[in-house]
Amino acid sequence: MTSVSKSAVNRRSLIKMSAAGGLAAAAASPRFMSDAFARQATPVVANGPAKNIIFYLGDGMGQAHRDAGQLTQVGPYTTLAMDSLPIVGMVGTNSVTPDGAVLVTDSAAAATAFATGHKSFNGAIGVDADGNTVTNLVELAKAAGKSVGLVTTSQVTDASPAAFAAHVEDRDEQSEIARQYIEEAEVDVILGGGEDRWLPEGSAGAFPDNPAEDPEEQSSSDKGDLIARAKELGYEYVSDAAGLEAATGPKLLGLFANEEMFQQRPEGEGDIYDPVVTLNQMVTKAIEILSQNPNGFLLFVEEEATDEFSHSNNATYVIKGMQYLEEAVQTGLDFAESNPDTLVLVTADHECGGLTLESPDDEDESGDGATISAEDGPFPVAGTGYTFFMDWTTSGHTGVRVPLTATGPGSEKLAGYYENTHIFTALVEAFGLELPADLPTEITPGVPEPAASPVAQ
Ligand SMILES: [Zn+2]
Repeated sequence: MTSVSKSAVNRRSLIKMSAAGGLAAAAASPRFMSDAFARQATPVVANGPAKNIIFYLGDGMGQAHRDAGQLTQVGPYTTLAMDSLPIVGMVGTNSVTPDGAVLVTDSAAAATAFATGHKSFNGAIGVDADGNTVTNLVELAKAAGKSVGLVTTSQVTDASPAAFAAHVEDRDEQSEIARQYIEEAEVDVILGGGEDRWLPEGSAGAFPDNPAEDPEEQSSSDKGDLIARAKELGYEYVSDAAGLEAATGPKLLGLFANEEMFQQRPEGEGDIYDPVVTLNQMVTKAIEILSQNPNGFLLFVEEEATDEFSHSNNATYVIKGMQYLEEAVQTGLDFAESNPDTLVLVTADHECGGLTLESPDDEDESGDGATISAEDGPFPVAGTGYTFFMDWTTSGHTGVRVPLTATGPGSEKLAGYYENTHIFTALVEAFGLELPADLPTEITPGVPEPAASPVAQ
C-alpha cells in the first residue's frame, strides 16, 4: 500500500482503472502499482452487476476493535469471517464544513459520505456541506426496483442508518427521520431500537417509559404516533423475538428497545447488553424478506455497541459487540455463497476510543487506573493460555483510517486507499446504476485544509 500516494487516489482514477480491467491496466500505469490494486485480479470476484448489496458497519470499529474480536473469538492465527474477504481497503473518514475539513467525523457525516458520495458536516443526514438534499443509495436502489432494509442495534433512526434513507440537517431529528423512512423513502424492512422516537409523549408502547435501567427513556415523537402511521402504510409491526420470527413482510417495522438495544455505561455502572433479539436474528429475517424481491435488495446493517461502549471505554461489551457483528456477517456471507450476485462489505464510519491492544504488564502506563483511558483486561486469547489488555487513549472518536473488507461483484473497486465518499461510487457502479447528477467531481471540493481545532463528538 505504501506506493499509493494520497494524491494519486481520486474517484475518477479508481473508476477508470477498474473499468479498464484490473491488473493489466494497473500494470500499464506505474502510479497504481501496489499490492492493494493487484487484488483487482483476484479471481474470486464474480462478473456482472451486483443484484444485492449487504453493507455491514461496525460503528467506531477500528483495526484494534477487529483484532480484539479476532483474539477473543478465534485466536491469533485464525481469521474472522469479516476479515476473510478477498478485497481490502483503507478508508479516510474526515468530515467537512463549508469552511474547511474536520479531522474527526461523527457517524452522521460519515454515513452521509457512504450513502451520497458527499463529504458533509458532523450532524448532517443526507445533505451536503451547504445543507442541500443530495441523492442517496436507498433512492437509487428503490428507483431500480430493489427492496431496502435498515438494521441496527442503535435507534433505527440513529445517524448511520438515517443517512442512507433520510435528509435532515440535524441528526437529532429522529422522529422526522422515522417519518421520512415510512412516508417518503418507503424503506421495506426497519429493525432495531428507538421505539421512543416513534411514539408521542404519554404513549409508552411495548417498552415502558422511565425504566429502572435508564429513567430518562421516554416516548418523545413530535410527529405523532408513527407506529400507527406505519401500520396504515402496510407495515407489519413487531417488538419481540416471537413476532420477529413469525414476520413475513414484505414491509416490516421491528422496534426492540426504547433507545439503543443496550445500556452504554462503563463496566459495573449499569452497563447492559442483553438484547430482546440479536443483530443476527434481525439480519436473518431482513435477508429472508428482502431476498423475495426478484430485482434484489440493499441491506444496511449496523452494530452500534462497538462505538458506544468505546465511548465508555467498556472493552467487555466492545468484545460482545464484535461477536454479534461477526455472527451477523457470517449470515450475510452464507447468503452470498448461494447467491453469488451479492456484494458484501464490512467497514466502519470512524475509529472510537483510540484503542490499542497490549500484552499484560505490571502497571498501567496510561495512569492510575481511575482515568477514563485506563487499560481494560486481562481478556483471554481464544485457544491459547495467553491474555491481552485493551488500552484506550480517549472517550471520543479519532481521525485514523478504518479498514474495509469486501467480496462479490464490484467489490474490486473497494480495494486500495481512498476516502469514504468513494464507497458510494463503488456501490452505485456495482449495482450497475448511473451515478447521480449531483455527485461532486472532486472528493472534497474547496476544503483541503484541516481545521485548526478538530472536534471529537
Ligand atoms: Zn460515537
